[in-house]
Amino acid sequence: MSDTILVVVEQREGKLNRVSWETITAGQAIAAATGWALEAAVVGASSVAGEVARKKLAKVHSIESPKLEPYTPDAFAVGLKQFIASKQPRLVLMPHTYQVRDFIPKLATLMGRTVISDCIGFKFDGGKLVFTRQMFQGKLAADVSFTSDAPWFATFQNGAFRGDQAESGAGAAAVETVNVEVADGVLRNKPQEVFQEAKQAVDLSQAEVIVSVGRGIKEQKNIELVKQLADALGAELAASRPICDSGWLPMDRQVGSSGQTVAPKLYLAIGISGAIQHIVGMKGAKSIIAVNKDSEAPIFEIADYAVVGNLFDIVPPLIEEVKKAKAGS
Ligand SMILES: Cc1cc2nc3c(=O)[nH]c(=O)nc-3n(C[C@H](O)[C@H](O)[C@H](O)COP(=O)(O)OP(=O)(O)OC[C@H]3O[C@@H](n4cnc5c(N)ncnc54)[C@H](O)[C@@H]3O)c2cc1C
Repeated sequence: MSDTILVVVEQREGKLNRVSWETITAGQAIAAATGWALEAAVVGASSVAGEVARKKLAKVHSIESPKLEPYTPDAFAVGLKQFIASKQPRLVLMPHTYQVRDFIPKLATLMGRTVISDCIGFKFDGGKLVFTRQMFQGKLAADVSFTSDAPWFATFQNGAFRGDQAESGAGAAAVETVNVEVADGVLRNKPQEVFQEAKQAVDLSQAEVIVSVGRGIKEQKNIELVKQLADALGAELAASRPICDSGWLPMDRQVGSSGQTVAPKLYLAIGISGAIQHIVGMKGAKSIIAVNKDSEAPIFEIADYAVVGNLFDIVPPLIEEVKKAKAGS
């Protein structure tokens, strides 16, 4: 068993996804805390290994077999098991994506191990590695650690770390090709064409100012009020999940773990409680103003400006003031 952390990045058709960089940031943070070496593995598409190798990593492994493209859970589980069994890293990290959720239970089970999934942080306490994960829809944060032997498997939630904070290396890390054997009988399913999501009409990730509305708005007809504020500010309108689930705004306006991740200069959260699934999507905003009638609302823990009060008293005069200020400028 080596004191190595292995980050398995995710690619599709030779394109790395954003969460892979976040997992590399997480791996770098754990490496800094533990003193363990950090390596990465690319499965199936050697073309992206060079891109990964620009980050601060001891080595990048390109795990290859003709059976690894296109993705299937069977080939990934069998191929990665061979690699991990021979390499013996202490810790294997992956992003908590749909694809990883599809194959990691099988991979861990094949190796007689468990997975700590959907983590949002970690601690290295007295030589013990502890992961934090949310429970009961984000109401509690639990500290979880491994009792079994390594290799340990953990996945990180989308947004738990900042991908743009993944450190680059002084020079490119070495890329090593590893061929794995995936026997003919292993694949039990035949992938069909990848389902293409409808192109998002709104790209909130590029917005500089966002006015986001939550269930505090009470009724669909009241959405017009926050829309007026967004228009006055020249902002994009966004929402928490219940607003989109109710069909009050389209799904592509949803911010959070199952919506878009945004990083505007200014984020106004109007009547939003600040559940973890919402916060992971907007905590990268430079300035956060929250309006909530409950002074204990969790959104205030990350807000730069807290406005405690009834949004129906606060938003209308705010619209007027913004209009006045804009007219005067
Ligand atoms: C797997 C999973 C994925 C999820 N993904 C997402 C996601 O991507 N995005 C997301 O947002 N959520 C997501 N959720 C849901 C999330 O857990 C919360 O339920 C949701 O964010 C709550 O939305 P809210 O803050 O609008 O509503 P609530 O939690 O009901 O909060 C409403 C807030 O409005 C305040 N309020 C009420 N009336 C007024 C008033 N008159 N003036 C001022 N304030 C008022 C209240 O004090 C309260 O804080 C997900 C949940 C799960 C389980």
